[in-house]
Amino acid sequence: MSAKSYINDVLKHIKKVSSRQPIFYQAAEEVLTNLAPLLDREPKYEKHSVLERIVMPEKTTMFRTVYINDAGKACVHFGYRVEFNSSIGPYKGGLRFHPTVNLDVLKFLGFEQIFKNSLTGLNMGGAKGGANFDPKGKSDGEIMRFCQSFMNELSKLIGDVKDIPAGDIGVGGREIGYLYGQYKKLTSRFDGALTGKGLSWGGSLARTEATGYGSVYFADEMIKKVGGSLEGKRCSISGAGNVAIYTAQKLYHLGALPVTVSDSTGFIYDKDGIDVELLKDIKEVKRLGLSEYAKVKKGSIFKSVNEYANGRNEVWSIPCDAAFPSATQNELNLADIETLYANGCRLVCEGANMPTTPEAMAFIQGKKDFLYGPAKAANAGGVATSGLEMSQNASMTSWSFEEVDTKLHNIMRHIFNTAYETSKEFGDEGNLVLGANIAGFRKVADAMIDQGYV
Ligand code: GLU
Repeated sequence: MSAKSYINDVLKHIKKVSSRQPIFYQAAEEVLTNLAPLLDREPKYEKHSVLERIVMPEKTTMFRTVYINDAGKACVHFGYRVEFNSSIGPYKGGLRFHPTVNLDVLKFLGFEQIFKNSLTGLNMGGAKGGANFDPKGKSDGEIMRFCQSFMNELSKLIGDVKDIPAGDIGVGGREIGYLYGQYKKLTSRFDGALTGKGLSWGGSLARTEATGYGSVYFADEMIKKVGGSLEGKRCSISGAGNVAIYTAQKLYHLGALPVTVSDSTGFIYDKDGIDVELLKDIKEVKRLGLSEYAKVKKGSIFKSVNEYANGRNEVWSIPCDAAFPSATQNELNLADIETLYANGCRLVCEGANMPTTPEAMAFIQGKKDFLYGPAKAANAGGVATSGLEMSQNASMTSWSFEEVDTKLHNIMRHIFNTAYETSKEFGDEGNLVLGANIAGFRKVADAMIDQGYV
């Protein structure tokens, strides 16, 4: 069978058996269609049914999570862990607590994680988990009780050489703390079964900064390759979580100017540059909406999302040279990218997972003068630093901030070079989507063949 028909058959099958999972399908379609040149060259992947196997999680666990809210009411949520692939290492990937979480979203995230983790060069398999629980507006007590209840089931799956969860949307340092406390209580183990831990109890310096820093390191590699520089560039960022915050901080380090951030209430345009310390105070300490930022920072503008119910993400209407989508999936669509392009933007670097819709990605790929850092390569710095946290835990040491940051920087360079060289090897130099998908897949697929049909 030709590679194209093999890929189409597998995609058709996914559509049939997972018809209610459009987001997972979107992620699978992107990876599989980009594998055509590799599959044409290497018939072994079809011979060993690698595509059929790799698109199916090794194990999916769904569980009820009940906690008592402050009003004394029992609240019930779906909990999940999708253990997607363990051929190159133990399952590794974050937990998302957000009302939109369902099996479709977690399968997409777990699938992406396989290739992202592979690209880091570290030995980590792919997984994702979470719950349709909204931490927003909940008290600390409610968050703690929810995390403890969630861990009552999750603890049966995880372990430092088995499955190592971390944070994602809605799961930060506070949640990891409560989850780890309960893990320890249930298992009597003080080990590295979670990453993103606090610094005094096994966490790694620079883990919080890693995804944002890594994304900017990646953008820096892309722009340097074409003889440019980030210096002086006006940059739009979406999101206001740790990815967005530390993207802004690293952009300043490299002489660029971040001018926007966004959250579920709206976005900030600060023409003089985002005040990172103020942003941290509002989002991380006070846990408030972004309108608070504009109340404090002179010259900045807050636009409420309610003013813009027209199917577009209005943060992308702000003119910029480079865009860093760092909020969530499918947050940058065709209309958005057309606006960005018309306003002079020539670089998109994905801090979030799959933030660009397929139509917007096709638009970018049709332009010769556009640099595009796909998520599984550009945002791999977070999980890579989780891998560094695991190394430190296993050897009972802790490295300095500079040591971890230097390793992170080297890993991001390695990922860029791997994706770039692979795109060249397959005749489409500079197509980092193709390069990242093939390079990420090849390592995992070869390990799956080596290990037989399990
Ligand atoms: N949630 C992050 C990601 O999307 C980090 C996962 C981790 O550190 O395990 O890659």
